[in-house]
Amino acid sequence: MGRLSINEPFEKLDSIDFQKLDWKVELSNNLNSLDKLSQYFPLSEEERLSMQDVLDRHPMNIPRYYLSLINADDPNDPVRKLAIPSVEELVVVGQMGETTGDPYGDDKHNKGNGILHKYPYSALVVATEYCSMYCRHCFRKRLVGLPGDKTVDNFQNAAKYIARHKEITNVIISGGDPMMLPTKVIAKMLEALKNIDHVNYVRIGTRTPVVYPLRYFDDELIEVLRDFNRHKTLYVPTHFNHANEITDISREAVRRIRSAGITVNNQTVFLKGVNDTVADLEDLMNGLVRIGVNPYYLYQCMPVARVRHHFQVPLKRGVDIVSEAKRRLDGYAKRFKFIMGHDIGKIEICGRKDDILVMSQIHSRPEHPEEASRILMGRLTENAGWLEDLDLMH
Ligand code: SF4
Repeated sequence: MGRLSINEPFEKLDSIDFQKLDWKVELSNNLNSLDKLSQYFPLSEEERLSMQDVLDRHPMNIPRYYLSLINADDPNDPVRKLAIPSVEELVVVGQMGETTGDPYGDDKHNKGNGILHKYPYSALVVATEYCSMYCRHCFRKRLVGLPGDKTVDNFQNAAKYIARHKEITNVIISGGDPMMLPTKVIAKMLEALKNIDHVNYVRIGTRTPVVYPLRYFDDELIEVLRDFNRHKTLYVPTHFNHANEITDISREAVRRIRSAGITVNNQTVFLKGVNDTVADLEDLMNGLVRIGVNPYYLYQCMPVARVRHHFQVPLKRGVDIVSEAKRRLDGYAKRFKFIMGHDIGKIEICGRKDDILVMSQIHSRPEHPEEASRILMGRLTENAGWLEDLDLMH
């Protein structure tokens, strides 16, 4: 894919004051077609055909704000890799091995009406399949941006399910991106959870602080979040992947969320060509603590079809990068856990001794409670990228 010799369209983006735009109206300017994309990155006829193939499988949606973060002169720009579709997405099984559409086992734990109940204490509600930006590395690629029956039909009924299950201590409203729902809908969802005694806290998982921070210049939304947080603790897990995503506007969005008394935690995905160097992780984690966001998880890229081949970092190389970054970071910046979000539960990757990877399972499936907190050790190969690729020691 080429680019314009003069980056005129990108220069125009620099003159927009994104904080002043109406978040609903601005969505109509999103790049969601090849015609719009080619205004920024000219495409040959051949490129158009293969890109259309990619878009038919995983649509494109890029807000102008997020597009403005791309350095158009750099073909390896990290934001570009996260946002712009690539023909590598046509590779279903590649150099890193087998892939699946559902690596986290969501479908097995689907209770209907958009409820995923995998661990006894957490219930996740898939509130929408829409996101302001369709990330090329999304692990819910099989769902986001596509019509389907995986989202909640009736949130009141979801709240009834949660009220009936007294073992649930926390609820995650997820998607897609729930913050893209109208403020009134978000308010109703939170209202339905407000009086369920056994729910200690609620999380709204969103990438909007990163890709669409203008959402938080809507005062009504901040008031809804503040009001709920007076009754029950609300957290906003978000998803910064690179220091280039930390801008004055995203910082102000985070400040506004925090002004409502809400803690913002970050879940990064470890991605080849995006953040797989020690310097990338250092800059990202230091940048996050600087703006008041807590580094929480660094996810090993899952074996997702159309993602793994070009984005997954081999574990042997990855664990060395993470260990070195942690050596350099201060206590708050290194609070994140390096995690495999596996079907059998979350597994922390602790480090390696020669070719042996040491892991600790931090959540387990209800049918295997004995697996929680167990230590796992597996022999690494150069290309091993997931638990199944390791020769486990018993
Ligand atoms: S915002 Fe989240 S759910 Fe939406 S495409 Fe990105 S990673 Fe996937």
